[in-house]
Amino acid sequence: LRSKLPDVGTSIFSVMTQLAQEHGAINLAQGFPDYDPPQALLEALAHHVCTSGHQQYAPMPGLPRLREAISQKTAHVYGVAAPDPATEITVTSGATEALYAVLAAVVHPGDEVLVLEPAYDLYSPAIRLQGGVPVYVPLTLPDFRPDWDQVRASLTPRTRLVMLNTPNNPTGAVLTPHDLTTLAELLRDTNTLVLSDEVYEHMVFDGHAHHSVLQHPELRERAFVLSSFGKTYHATGWKVGYCIAPPPLTTELRRVHQFVTFSVSTPTQHALADVLPDTALFEMLPTFYQQKRDLFRELLAPTGLRLLPVAGAYFQVADFRGLAPGTDDVTFARRLTQEAGVAVVPISAFYHDGQDHGLVRFCFAKQDSTLQAAAQRLQQAL
Ligand code: PMP
Ligand code: GLN
Repeated sequence: LRSKLPDVGTSIFSVMTQLAQEHGAINLAQGFPDYDPPQALLEALAHHVCTSGHQQYAPMPGLPRLREAISQKTAHVYGVAAPDPATEITVTSGATEALYAVLAAVVHPGDEVLVLEPAYDLYSPAIRLQGGVPVYVPLTLPDFRPDWDQVRASLTPRTRLVMLNTPNNPTGAVLTPHDLTTLAELLRDTNTLVLSDEVYEHMVFDGHAHHSVLQHPELRERAFVLSSFGKTYHATGWKVGYCIAPPPLTTELRRVHQFVTFSVSTPTQHALADVLPDTALFEMLPTFYQQKRDLFRELLAPTGLRLLPVAGAYFQVADFRGLAPGTDDVTFARRLTQEAGVAVVPISAFYHDGQDHGLVRFCFAKQDSTLQAAAQRLQQAL
Protein backbone atom coordinates (compact mmCIF):
# COMPACT_ATOMS: atom_id res chain seq x y z
CA LEU A 1 0.00 0.00 0.00
CA ARG A 2 1.35 3.42 -0.93
CA SER A 3 0.80 5.60 2.14
CA LYS A 4 -0.65 9.07 1.67
CA LEU A 5 1.20 10.20 4.79
CA PRO A 6 4.38 8.11 4.78
CA ASP A 7 6.24 10.40 7.18
CA VAL A 8 3.48 10.54 9.78
CA GLY A 9 3.62 8.35 12.88
CA THR A 10 1.10 8.09 15.71
CA SER A 11 0.01 11.45 17.19
CA ILE A 12 2.28 12.61 20.02
CA PHE A 13 -0.77 12.81 22.31
CA SER A 14 -1.46 9.10 21.93
CA VAL A 15 2.22 8.24 22.24
CA MET A 16 2.77 10.19 25.46
CA THR A 17 -0.52 9.03 26.99
CA GLN A 18 0.43 5.41 26.36
CA LEU A 19 3.89 5.97 27.80
CA ALA A 20 2.31 7.62 30.85
CA GLN A 21 0.07 4.58 31.35
CA GLU A 22 2.96 2.15 30.99
CA HIS A 23 4.99 3.97 33.62
CA GLY A 24 2.22 5.01 36.00
CA ALA A 25 3.05 8.65 35.27
CA ILE A 26 0.74 11.57 35.92
CA ASN A 27 -0.46 12.55 32.45
CA LEU A 28 0.18 16.26 31.93
CA ALA A 29 0.89 15.50 28.28
CA GLN A 30 -2.42 15.12 26.45
CA GLY A 31 -4.66 18.16 26.89
CA PHE A 32 -7.78 17.09 28.78
CA PRO A 33 -9.22 17.90 32.22
CA ASP A 34 -9.26 15.31 35.01
CA TYR A 35 -12.55 16.73 36.33
CA ASP A 36 -16.07 16.40 34.96
CA PRO A 37 -18.37 18.72 33.02
CA PRO A 38 -20.82 20.91 34.98
CA GLN A 39 -23.48 18.87 36.78
CA ALA A 40 -26.27 20.65 34.87
CA LEU A 41 -24.78 19.49 31.59
CA LEU A 42 -24.41 15.88 32.77
CA GLU A 43 -28.01 15.87 33.99
CA ALA A 44 -29.21 17.39 30.73
CA LEU A 45 -27.44 14.65 28.77
CA ALA A 46 -28.89 11.95 31.03
CA HIS A 47 -32.33 13.44 30.42
CA HIS A 48 -31.99 13.60 26.64
CA VAL A 49 -30.45 10.14 26.37
CA CYS A 50 -33.65 8.89 28.02
CA THR A 51 -36.01 11.02 25.94
CA SER A 52 -37.94 9.30 23.18
CA GLY A 53 -37.49 11.06 19.87
CA HIS A 54 -33.96 12.31 20.66
CA GLN A 55 -32.14 9.18 19.56
CA GLN A 56 -32.08 9.47 15.78
CA TYR A 57 -30.04 11.53 13.31
CA ALA A 58 -29.87 15.23 13.99
CA PRO A 59 -30.26 17.59 11.02
CA MET A 60 -27.05 17.67 8.98
CA PRO A 61 -25.90 21.21 9.99
CA GLY A 62 -26.76 20.69 13.68
CA LEU A 63 -29.90 20.89 15.82
CA PRO A 64 -31.67 24.20 15.14
CA ARG A 65 -31.98 24.91 18.86
CA LEU A 66 -28.24 24.40 19.41
CA ARG A 67 -27.36 26.60 16.44
CA GLU A 68 -29.72 29.26 17.78
CA ALA A 69 -28.04 29.07 21.20
CA ILE A 70 -24.58 29.34 19.58
CA SER A 71 -25.78 32.39 17.66
CA GLN A 72 -27.04 34.10 20.84
CA LYS A 73 -23.91 33.20 22.76
CA THR A 74 -21.68 34.62 20.02
CA ALA A 75 -23.58 37.91 19.96
CA HIS A 76 -23.45 38.13 23.77
CA VAL A 77 -19.77 37.30 24.18
CA TYR A 78 -18.34 39.26 21.25
CA GLY A 79 -20.81 42.12 20.91
CA VAL A 80 -21.35 41.31 17.25
CA ALA A 81 -24.48 40.80 15.16
CA ALA A 82 -25.82 37.32 15.84
CA PRO A 83 -24.62 34.92 13.11
CA ASP A 84 -27.51 33.37 11.17
CA PRO A 85 -28.08 29.83 12.49
CA ALA A 86 -29.53 28.77 9.13
CA THR A 87 -26.67 29.87 6.93
CA GLU A 88 -23.62 30.59 9.10
CA ILE A 89 -23.37 27.98 11.88
CA THR A 90 -22.51 24.30 11.51
CA VAL A 91 -22.18 21.83 14.39
CA THR A 92 -19.28 19.41 13.91
CA SER A 93 -17.72 16.35 15.53
CA GLY A 94 -15.31 18.42 17.56
CA ALA A 95 -13.16 21.19 16.17
CA THR A 96 -11.15 18.33 14.66
CA GLU A 97 -13.82 17.51 12.11
CA ALA A 98 -14.40 21.21 11.41
CA LEU A 99 -10.68 21.68 10.67
CA TYR A 100 -10.63 18.69 8.38
CA ALA A 101 -13.86 19.62 6.59
CA VAL A 102 -12.80 23.24 6.05
CA LEU A 103 -9.48 22.13 4.56
CA ALA A 104 -11.18 19.51 2.38
CA ALA A 105 -13.72 22.11 1.24
CA VAL A 106 -11.38 24.89 0.18
CA VAL A 107 -7.89 23.52 -0.51
CA HIS A 108 -7.25 22.41 -4.09
CA PRO A 109 -4.14 20.42 -5.04
CA GLY A 110 -1.18 22.78 -5.19
CA ASP A 111 -2.82 25.49 -3.06
CA GLU A 112 -0.61 26.95 -0.37
CA VAL A 113 -1.78 27.13 3.24
CA LEU A 114 0.09 29.35 5.64
CA VAL A 115 0.75 27.80 9.06
CA LEU A 116 2.31 29.65 11.98
CA GLU A 117 4.54 27.26 13.94
CA PRO A 118 4.56 25.74 16.49
CA ALA A 119 1.12 24.53 15.42
CA TYR A 120 -1.41 21.94 16.52
CA ASP A 121 -0.31 18.61 15.10
CA LEU A 122 -3.20 17.88 12.77
CA TYR A 123 -2.88 21.02 10.63
CA SER A 124 -0.05 19.89 8.40
CA PRO A 125 -1.23 16.30 7.65
CA ALA A 126 -4.79 17.50 7.00
CA ILE A 127 -3.53 20.14 4.54
CA ARG A 128 -1.31 17.64 2.75
CA LEU A 129 -4.12 15.09 2.44
CA GLN A 130 -5.93 17.65 0.28
CA GLY A 131 -2.87 18.06 -1.92
CA GLY A 132 -2.22 21.40 -0.27
CA VAL A 133 1.25 22.76 0.37
CA PRO A 134 1.82 23.98 3.92
CA VAL A 135 3.97 27.11 4.05
CA TYR A 136 5.43 27.45 7.52
CA VAL A 137 6.16 30.75 9.22
CA PRO A 138 7.79 30.50 12.65
CA LEU A 139 6.29 32.33 15.60
CA THR A 140 9.12 34.36 17.08
CA LEU A 141 10.69 33.20 20.33
CA PRO A 142 10.64 33.90 23.24
CA ASP A 143 7.03 35.08 23.27
CA PHE A 144 5.80 33.30 20.11
CA ARG A 145 4.57 36.44 18.37
CA PRO A 146 3.74 36.34 14.65
CA ASP A 147 6.27 38.13 12.47
CA TRP A 148 3.90 39.86 10.05
CA ASP A 149 6.71 40.89 7.71
CA GLN A 150 7.55 37.26 7.29
CA VAL A 151 3.88 36.43 6.77
CA ARG A 152 3.72 39.11 4.08
CA ALA A 153 6.81 37.68 2.40
CA SER A 154 5.28 34.19 2.46
CA LEU A 155 1.95 35.11 0.84
CA THR A 156 1.68 34.32 -2.87
CA PRO A 157 -1.17 34.29 -5.40
CA ARG A 158 -1.48 30.57 -4.55
CA THR A 159 -2.13 31.17 -0.84
CA ARG A 160 -5.61 29.76 -0.36
CA LEU A 161 -5.81 29.92 3.42
CA VAL A 162 -4.08 31.35 6.49
CA MET A 163 -4.47 29.25 9.65
CA LEU A 164 -4.68 31.10 12.97
CA ASN A 165 -4.90 29.61 16.45
CA THR A 166 -5.62 31.99 19.30
CA PRO A 167 -5.13 31.28 22.19
CA ASN A 168 -2.42 29.06 20.80
CA ASN A 169 -1.79 25.40 21.44
CA PRO A 170 0.96 24.73 22.56
CA THR A 171 2.34 28.17 23.46
CA GLY A 172 -0.62 29.92 25.10
CA ALA A 173 0.16 33.04 23.06
CA VAL A 174 -2.80 35.20 22.02
CA LEU A 175 -3.35 37.48 19.04
CA THR A 176 -4.06 41.18 19.61
CA PRO A 177 -6.54 43.41 17.72
CA HIS A 178 -3.46 44.92 16.06
CA ASP A 179 -2.44 41.46 14.80
CA LEU A 180 -5.87 40.97 13.27
CA THR A 181 -5.84 44.39 11.64
CA THR A 182 -2.39 43.74 10.22
CA LEU A 183 -3.50 40.43 8.76
CA ALA A 184 -6.62 42.04 7.30
CA GLU A 185 -4.44 44.61 5.53
CA LEU A 186 -2.18 41.88 4.16
CA LEU A 187 -5.13 39.93 2.77
CA ARG A 188 -7.04 42.89 1.32
CA ASP A 189 -7.55 42.48 -2.45
CA THR A 190 -6.65 38.78 -2.31
CA ASN A 191 -8.82 35.65 -2.44
CA THR A 192 -7.05 34.18 0.58
CA LEU A 193 -9.33 32.76 3.27
CA VAL A 194 -8.74 32.47 7.01
CA LEU A 195 -9.31 29.54 9.33
CA SER A 196 -9.30 30.75 12.93
CA ASP A 197 -9.07 27.96 15.50
CA GLU A 198 -10.42 29.55 18.68
CA VAL A 199 -11.14 26.44 20.75
CA TYR A 200 -9.54 28.08 23.82
CA GLU A 201 -11.63 31.25 23.42
CA HIS A 202 -12.71 31.22 27.09
CA MET A 203 -9.22 30.80 28.51
CA VAL A 204 -7.49 34.17 28.36
CA PHE A 205 -5.89 35.53 31.53
CA ASP A 206 -4.81 38.61 33.45
CA GLY A 207 -7.93 40.60 32.66
CA HIS A 208 -7.36 40.51 28.91
CA ALA A 209 -10.10 39.64 26.44
CA HIS A 210 -10.00 37.03 23.71
CA HIS A 211 -9.95 38.82 20.37
CA SER A 212 -12.00 36.80 17.94
CA VAL A 213 -11.80 37.02 14.18
CA LEU A 214 -15.61 37.31 14.44
CA GLN A 215 -15.08 40.83 15.85
CA HIS A 216 -13.04 41.94 12.86
CA PRO A 217 -15.55 42.65 10.06
CA GLU A 218 -13.04 42.51 7.24
CA LEU A 219 -11.53 39.18 8.33
CA ARG A 220 -14.88 37.70 9.31
CA GLU A 221 -16.01 38.00 5.69
CA ARG A 222 -13.34 35.52 4.64
CA ALA A 223 -13.07 33.38 7.77
CA PHE A 224 -14.09 30.05 9.21
CA VAL A 225 -14.07 30.46 13.01
CA LEU A 226 -13.96 27.26 15.09
CA SER A 227 -14.77 26.46 18.69
CA SER A 228 -15.10 23.30 20.78
CA PHE A 229 -17.54 22.41 23.54
CA GLY A 230 -14.92 19.89 24.65
CA LYS A 231 -12.77 22.73 25.95
CA THR A 232 -15.54 24.98 27.21
CA TYR A 233 -17.34 22.30 29.24
CA HIS A 234 -14.50 19.97 30.31
CA ALA A 235 -15.96 17.40 27.92
CA THR A 236 -13.23 16.54 25.43
CA GLY A 237 -14.71 13.05 25.07
CA TRP A 238 -18.01 14.36 23.75
CA LYS A 239 -16.43 15.58 20.51
CA VAL A 240 -18.78 18.43 19.66
CA GLY A 241 -17.61 21.70 18.15
CA TYR A 242 -18.81 24.21 15.62
CA CYS A 243 -17.83 26.47 12.78
CA ILE A 244 -19.11 29.99 12.12
CA ALA A 245 -18.57 31.30 8.59
CA PRO A 246 -20.36 33.56 6.07
CA PRO A 247 -23.06 31.81 4.00
CA PRO A 248 -20.98 31.05 0.87
CA LEU A 249 -18.21 29.53 2.99
CA THR A 250 -20.70 27.63 5.15
CA THR A 251 -22.25 26.17 2.01
CA GLU A 252 -18.87 24.77 0.98
CA LEU A 253 -18.13 23.47 4.48
CA ARG A 254 -21.47 21.64 4.61
CA ARG A 255 -20.89 20.06 1.22
CA VAL A 256 -18.03 18.18 2.91
CA HIS A 257 -19.40 17.84 6.45
CA GLN A 258 -22.50 15.99 5.17
CA PHE A 259 -20.25 13.27 3.77
CA VAL A 260 -17.72 13.10 6.60
CA THR A 261 -20.10 12.52 9.51
CA PHE A 262 -23.44 13.75 8.17
CA SER A 263 -24.47 14.92 11.65
CA VAL A 264 -23.43 14.97 15.30
CA SER A 265 -24.84 12.98 18.26
CA THR A 266 -28.43 14.15 18.90
CA PRO A 267 -28.84 13.86 22.70
CA THR A 268 -25.46 15.54 23.19
CA GLN A 269 -26.54 18.49 21.07
CA HIS A 270 -29.78 18.81 23.05
CA ALA A 271 -27.86 18.82 26.32
CA LEU A 272 -25.49 21.52 25.09
CA ALA A 273 -28.44 23.60 23.84
CA ASP A 274 -29.97 23.39 27.34
CA VAL A 275 -26.93 24.79 29.15
CA LEU A 276 -25.44 27.21 26.63
CA PRO A 277 -27.74 30.12 27.63
CA ASP A 278 -26.27 29.93 31.16
CA THR A 279 -23.31 32.20 30.43
CA ALA A 280 -22.01 31.88 34.01
CA LEU A 281 -20.83 28.35 33.17
CA PHE A 282 -18.17 29.62 30.77
CA GLU A 283 -17.67 33.13 32.11
CA MET A 284 -15.96 31.60 35.15
CA LEU A 285 -13.33 29.88 33.01
CA PRO A 286 -10.70 32.66 32.88
CA THR A 287 -10.59 32.85 36.69
CA PHE A 288 -10.77 29.08 37.07
CA TYR A 289 -7.83 28.45 34.73
CA GLN A 290 -5.82 31.46 35.82
CA GLN A 291 -5.85 30.06 39.38
CA LYS A 292 -4.58 26.74 38.06
CA ARG A 293 -1.91 28.44 35.97
CA ASP A 294 -0.71 30.48 38.96
CA LEU A 295 -0.75 27.50 41.32
CA PHE A 296 1.17 25.34 38.86
CA ARG A 297 3.78 28.04 38.20
CA GLU A 298 4.26 28.53 41.92
CA LEU A 299 4.65 24.79 42.42
CA LEU A 300 7.18 24.50 39.57
CA ALA A 301 9.23 27.54 40.64
CA PRO A 302 11.69 25.54 42.79
CA THR A 303 12.41 22.96 40.04
CA GLY A 304 14.80 25.00 37.93
CA LEU A 305 12.59 24.75 34.86
CA ARG A 306 12.30 28.16 33.16
CA LEU A 307 8.61 28.89 32.78
CA LEU A 308 7.49 30.83 29.73
CA PRO A 309 4.60 33.29 30.08
CA VAL A 310 1.08 31.88 29.59
CA ALA A 311 -1.47 34.37 28.24
CA GLY A 312 -4.17 31.81 27.42
CA ALA A 313 -5.21 28.17 26.87
CA TYR A 314 -4.33 25.50 29.46
CA PHE A 315 -0.71 24.74 28.72
CA GLN A 316 2.51 25.72 30.44
CA VAL A 317 5.64 25.68 28.28
CA ALA A 318 8.94 25.24 30.12
CA ASP A 319 12.58 25.52 29.05
CA PHE A 320 14.61 22.65 30.53
CA ARG A 321 18.02 23.46 29.09
CA GLY A 322 19.33 24.81 32.39
CA LEU A 323 18.69 21.38 33.93
CA ALA A 324 19.68 19.10 31.07
CA PRO A 325 22.04 20.89 28.71
CA GLY A 326 22.45 19.14 25.38
CA THR A 327 19.40 16.90 25.86
CA ASP A 328 16.82 17.01 23.06
CA ASP A 329 13.20 17.62 24.00
CA VAL A 330 11.93 14.16 23.02
CA THR A 331 14.54 12.49 25.22
CA PHE A 332 13.76 14.88 28.07
CA ALA A 333 10.00 14.31 27.76
CA ARG A 334 10.49 10.52 27.80
CA ARG A 335 12.84 10.77 30.77
CA LEU A 336 10.38 12.89 32.75
CA THR A 337 7.64 10.38 32.02
CA GLN A 338 9.69 7.28 32.82
CA GLU A 339 11.90 8.53 35.64
CA ALA A 340 10.03 11.44 37.27
CA GLY A 341 6.56 9.98 36.65
CA VAL A 342 5.15 13.09 34.96
CA ALA A 343 4.27 12.94 31.26
CA VAL A 344 4.74 16.02 29.06
CA VAL A 345 4.80 16.78 25.33
CA PRO A 346 8.00 17.85 23.55
CA ILE A 347 7.41 21.08 21.63
CA SER A 348 9.32 19.73 18.61
CA ALA A 349 6.15 17.69 17.89
CA PHE A 350 4.47 20.96 16.88
CA TYR A 351 7.07 21.77 14.21
CA HIS A 352 6.92 20.05 10.81
CA ASP A 353 10.69 19.58 10.86
CA GLY A 354 10.95 18.65 14.53
CA GLN A 355 12.77 21.84 15.53
CA ASP A 356 14.01 21.51 19.09
CA HIS A 357 14.10 24.58 21.31
CA GLY A 358 14.59 22.73 24.60
CA LEU A 359 10.92 23.16 25.49
CA VAL A 360 8.21 20.86 26.84
CA ARG A 361 4.48 21.43 27.38
CA PHE A 362 2.54 20.68 30.58
CA CYS A 363 -1.28 20.63 30.61
CA PHE A 364 -2.56 22.31 33.78
CA ALA A 365 -6.25 21.47 33.23
CA LYS A 366 -6.04 19.21 36.28
CA GLN A 367 -7.36 19.13 39.83
CA ASP A 368 -5.15 21.10 42.21
CA SER A 369 -4.26 17.84 43.94
CA THR A 370 -3.02 16.40 40.62
CA LEU A 371 -0.90 19.48 39.98
CA GLN A 372 0.52 19.25 43.52
CA ALA A 373 1.34 15.56 43.14
CA ALA A 374 3.02 16.19 39.79
CA ALA A 375 5.05 19.10 41.14
CA GLN A 376 6.19 17.01 44.10
CA ARG A 377 7.46 14.31 41.74
CA LEU A 378 9.21 16.92 39.60
CA GLN A 379 10.83 18.58 42.59
CA GLN A 380 12.24 15.24 43.71
CA ALA A 381 13.47 14.23 40.29
CA LEU A 382 14.91 17.48 38.94
N1 PMP B 1 -7.52 22.75 17.78
C1 PMP B 1 -6.73 22.88 18.83
C2 PMP B 1 -5.74 23.98 18.86
C3 PMP B 1 -6.82 21.99 19.89
O1 PMP B 1 -6.00 22.09 20.94
C4 PMP B 1 -7.78 20.98 19.84
C5 PMP B 1 -7.95 20.05 21.02
N2 PMP B 1 -7.38 18.86 20.87
C6 PMP B 1 -8.58 20.86 18.71
C7 PMP B 1 -8.43 21.78 17.69
C8 PMP B 1 -9.59 19.77 18.54
O2 PMP B 1 -10.74 20.01 19.25
P1 PMP B 1 -11.84 18.86 19.49
O3 PMP B 1 -11.38 18.08 20.66
O4 PMP B 1 -13.09 19.63 19.73
O5 PMP B 1 -11.90 18.05 18.27
N1 GLN C 1 -5.78 19.00 21.97
C1 GLN C 1 -5.20 18.09 22.89
C2 GLN C 1 -3.77 18.48 23.15
O1 GLN C 1 -3.25 19.37 22.55
C3 GLN C 1 -5.18 16.65 22.50
C4 GLN C 1 -6.06 16.22 21.41
C5 GLN C 1 -5.74 14.82 20.99
O2 GLN C 1 -5.39 13.99 21.79
N2 GLN C 1 -5.85 14.57 19.74
O3 GLN C 1 -3.15 17.86 23.95
